Amino acid sequence: MAVQSQAKMRNRAKSTNQRNRKHCIIANLMETMALAYDGAIQRLIDAFAHLPGIGPKGAQRIAFYLLNASDEESQGLIDAIAEVKEKIRFCDICGNVCETSPCPVCADPRRDHSVICVVEEPKDVMSIERTREYRGLYHVLGGVINPMANVQPSDLNIAKLIERLKDSEVTEVILALNPNVEGEATTSFLSQLLSQTDIKVTRLASGLPVGGDLEYADEITLGRALAGRRAV
Ligand SMILES: [Zn+2]
Repeated sequence: MAVQSQAKMRNRAKSTNQRNRKHCIIANLMETMALAYDGAIQRLIDAFAHLPGIGPKGAQRIAFYLLNASDEESQGLIDAIAEVKEKIRFCDICGNVCETSPCPVCADPRRDHSVICVVEEPKDVMSIERTREYRGLYHVLGGVINPMANVQPSDLNIAKLIERLKDSEVTEVILALNPNVEGEATTSFLSQLLSQTDIKVTRLASGLPVGGDLEYADEITLGRALAGRRAV
């Protein structure tokens, strides 16, 4: 067979393959679209899929679980969501979530009011409380400095922290932020800011995995890190 006709056959086979692949992609797409549920159930799946840590399959599983759950159980969930949206607010002093401001920690006279532990999120307060190593107060920043996500120091609960330190009995501030890039940048920013005051500034000791998250640290590791904090 001539070289030219062999090349023609190869090109024809190639274009047939491309056409087949295109048809295959379109067929898959149509199949996926057809697989979407109708109306309310799909809206519920989409709502769950937006939640952190829940993928499309998990969202589908929860939606169908609720579909089969008793009216009492599903109403309990609806009420819990409505109640949390209605009642939960941020403490005017520390920024933690609470039902009444000041929160129970800020209002507790048995706590050590000379120490403030600065954390990123309310869930970090719970992580430190679980260590049972700490009896001081907290300050929740509501995030960390993250230029990539356009989070600047002015977006965080820092001004209130500075305000809190004026005319107060606070002698030490513990910077307990996550040991990742953003947490380190925020620790550095705050330690520089607080170096202008007479207050002792400490941070959690090593022992936590780099790039990790306080939420997932076990109590012993977090407790040791807290006990071994050092000045910056
Ligand atoms: Zn508070």
